Amino acid sequence: MRDSKGREINYLRLSVTDRCNIRCIYCMPESGVPLVSHSDILSVDETVRLAGIIMRAADIRKVRITGGEPLVRKGVSDIVRGISGLHPCELVLTTNGLLLRSMVKQLAEAGIERVNISLDSLRDERINRISRRDVSLRNIEDAVAAAFDAGLDPVKVNCVVMRDINDDEIEDFIRWSWETGVTVRFIEHMPSRLSGDTFVSRDEIIEKASVLGEIIRQSDSGTAGIYSFGDTGQTFGIIAPFSDPMCSSCSRIRLSALGTLHSCLAEEVGVSLIELLRSDAGDEAVSEIVRGAVIRKPDSHGGCVHAKMWKIGG
Ligand code: SAM
Ligand code: SF4
Repeated sequence: MRDSKGREINYLRLSVTDRCNIRCIYCMPESGVPLVSHSDILSVDETVRLAGIIMRAADIRKVRITGGEPLVRKGVSDIVRGISGLHPCELVLTTNGLLLRSMVKQLAEAGIERVNISLDSLRDERINRISRRDVSLRNIEDAVAAAFDAGLDPVKVNCVVMRDINDDEIEDFIRWSWETGVTVRFIEHMPSRLSGDTFVSRDEIIEKASVLGEIIRQSDSGTAGIYSFGDTGQTFGIIAPFSDPMCSSCSRIRLSALGTLHSCLAEEVGVSLIELLRSDAGDEAVSEIVRGAVIRKPDSHGGCVHAKMWKIGG
């Protein structure tokens, strides 16, 4: 459906948990997030029902399962299976990759068509420092290989670029993407719990990548700008919420694991749907609220984005 600014809203990011098995320095507090009681989180059946209502109400064409870390959510494959086939749409997943190898077959069978894997360094010592957990590049390379084996092609790898933390790895990441066959996308760091001047702009990322050859902007794909090295066919992406916000063509809405609909990353409060869903109100009453929230989607995030990515799904 279209919002009041005429934008086509057809992409739902569905956060199935606010928990995670690692503690990225730019995302989660080291001690984890305040525990929410199970009864305050949508059950598997409620998640599928509410996703279905939203998908039909707004004519959603793409659903991304996210979190927190979606693969720590018990029943995530049942959620995927339930959503798949509810309404014609692309069904994709964003994950830190740690549990992917063991789950990818069942996820693909349940209906996942593609995966994005988050990885912020190619050096084990840095991966550990950024994730505050004992994670190695090998873990992620195994996840990438398993995703390709399961037919989930292309596999995208997302890297949040942070000054003096990993901004010297742009060239390495691009070379690594050539070796492994993944599509790498660099993300501008959005304001977070990380202190200091960590922001690296899109132009700086391009400058660092240009040591590998002349860079041409090809096109846009969703929120990512796609860049290529001349006419070699080798590409990489940049998601630049600050340098290149793309709010005027944003097609996304977000549903949190608590059952709150956020029509923009900047919308901290959102519209809570869980109580209405659990009341006697029928699907049409919930649909009306969903359509109202979509219509009122803000013009832009205005540089003020939701600080709790683990809650809203990044
Ligand atoms: N746990 C999964 C993962 O890390 O891929 C999915 C949820 S995570 C919140 C989704 C995406 O948001 C990840 O790619 C992560 O790097 C990104 N993200 C989280 N905080 C961010 C920030 N402050 N700036 C830019 N990207 C961020
Ligand atoms: Fe977990 Fe993803 Fe946040 Fe990292 S970015 S702490 S993997 S939810």
